[in-house]
Amino acid sequence: MVHFVGAGPGAADLITLRGAELLQQADCIIYAGSLVNPALLAMAKDGCSVYNSAEMTLEEVLDVLRAQEEQRHDTVRLHTGDASLYGAIREQMDVLDRMGIAYDDTPGVSSFCGAAAALGAEYTLPGISQTVIITRMAGRTPVPERESLRALASHGASMVIFLSAGLLPAVQQELLKGAYTEQTPAALVYKASWPEEKVVRCTVGTLACCGEQQGITKTALILVGDFLQTTDYERSKLYDPAFTTEYRKGHKE
Ligand code: SAH
Repeated sequence: MVHFVGAGPGAADLITLRGAELLQQADCIIYAGSLVNPALLAMAKDGCSVYNSAEMTLEEVLDVLRAQEEQRHDTVRLHTGDASLYGAIREQMDVLDRMGIAYDDTPGVSSFCGAAAALGAEYTLPGISQTVIITRMAGRTPVPERESLRALASHGASMVIFLSAGLLPAVQQELLKGAYTEQTPAALVYKASWPEEKVVRCTVGTLACCGEQQGITKTALILVGDFLQTTDYERSKLYDPAFTTEYRKGHKE
């Protein structure tokens, strides 16, 4: 059987308990290159075969999955963060379906959660934004025109931009064509939860310049929105003394 597993954002102890158990039991591990912490590979049992998918094509990965299955082995396909975001799992799952090979998927802590934790941030502040837009700049992988950064930026929502740290000047320009201003808070989080993590707080107007000063060109997330700085948010209803919920009776002060 094939187990897709989210490795988490980097720190080895941010994998789930289920993911760790699957790693320890695996006969074969195919991991997604440098974004997966090597410490996780140390969990492998003796005799486990380990492959780095950064050096492989989809066909080569599938060949290994098929060969392991023929030996009735369990393979962990270890993806960074959570595999459902920019993980290229669907194309693997579709072929496994056609080959009749069973698989399951264990979620992981995505780097966008790791980045918020590094910043002590909450994406969904009442009165500020109740929406998180997860996207990327078009690179060699195109982005549909209706999802262009400037179109998404028109909402002024909390935003997390993956795979775009090498394109900061263009990102900055696009964001300014939406609802954000030069003063809108922004941040760069490099290698969230790794020992070499770097957190850079800036504004949309200083994004490119700060990235250049800090030498950040990859393995980073760009976060944008008022959630990063405001003190002007509303209190939650859930914990408001006057608010009655299914579990607690509200009372007037
Ligand atoms: N599935 C992964 C994303 C894979 S795409 C997830 O859920 O996080 C790879 C991109 O993710 C990188 O270019 C970078 O933008 C981001 N990324 C992955 N790990 C990161 C980390 N620890 N810190 C900051 N960004 C990270």
